[in-house]
Amino acid sequence: MDRKPHILLIYTGGTIGMVKDYESGSLKAFDFNTLLKSIPELNQLDCNIDSVSFDKPLDSSNMNPEHWAKIAELIEINYSVYDGFVVLHGSDTMSYTGSALSFMLENLTKPVILTGSQLPIGDLRTDAKENLITSIQLAALQENGKAVIQEVGLYFEYKLYRANRTTKINAEHFQAFSSLNYPPLAESGVHLKVFRENIDKPKATKILKVHKKMDTNVAILKIFPGLNESVLKNVLNIPDLKALVLETYGAGNAPTEKWLLNCLKNAISCGLHIVNVTQCSGGSVIMGQYETSKELSKMQVINGKDITTEAAITKLMYLLGSNVSSKMFKTFFETSLRGEMQ
Ligand code: ASP
Repeated sequence: MDRKPHILLIYTGGTIGMVKDYESGSLKAFDFNTLLKSIPELNQLDCNIDSVSFDKPLDSSNMNPEHWAKIAELIEINYSVYDGFVVLHGSDTMSYTGSALSFMLENLTKPVILTGSQLPIGDLRTDAKENLITSIQLAALQENGKAVIQEVGLYFEYKLYRANRTTKINAEHFQAFSSLNYPPLAESGVHLKVFRENIDKPKATKILKVHKKMDTNVAILKIFPGLNESVLKNVLNIPDLKALVLETYGAGNAPTEKWLLNCLKNAISCGLHIVNVTQCSGGSVIMGQYETSKELSKMQVINGKDITTEAAITKLMYLLGSNVSSKMFKTFFETSLRGEMQ
């Protein structure tokens, strides 16, 4: 490649671009161009950087599927012009957005890297500069005229992960994310090391397909000792509910009480898709390994294997939005579409 890579920065909000309101003491979003001026180091990078910003930068707690669609659309309309995309985003829901984008952007062959920070960019001890600069470098990495990373990644505190494998695990450490079921795609130290064996190889020559329709008739229920029949029934009977992520214990285990199994069985026979995901941060659901998951398997609960809750809920929204038939839904969910499960 004989020209410098072109990178588009998409600023959605988050701590990275916030300043302290000294009257109230809380952090609030501020102007993105001012933000860029505080990092003169960006001029030293060997790539051309353009930026677009959300009109109203968001604390990522306010992110929703409409905002995901907006990010996906920005990538879609700029896809042929840019070699890579860096999405600046609050860390709170970054794993949800990263997971959602991985499903929304089918046949991606260019890097989309989400990053943010725990401290604002203007803060003396900020983690924002390293996160931003290395994310841009990763998005600009090319080999034989092709992007090295061709999937949706999440870069934070020296590690690039597959975004749909991540979870926010810490509200104050700089190392805020982990990816317990999949190794990092790259690591930044003295050298920027890319672990090619961990990177998804996209199917060649298929064109980018952007899916913006996400169906939000979904819910998450975490099982706990003492969950009672009324609570479970009320969740399962939510009007228009189409799919539920059931966070179970350990390797996918749930109580074997008759009322609970009957409630789930009834809901499934009425058409509700129930996905079994473990509440453990790492490891996989193994349906049928214990007596306590045998019945779930028999009643056709979907096996979430080693998927994260963030990837499971966004995959449900995506599959429901794509009108996958009820008959094929379980098969589609249990198939890894973007490297989100084993
Ligand atoms: N509340 C912030 C957000 O998610 C936290 C952060 O940016 O890290 O937007």
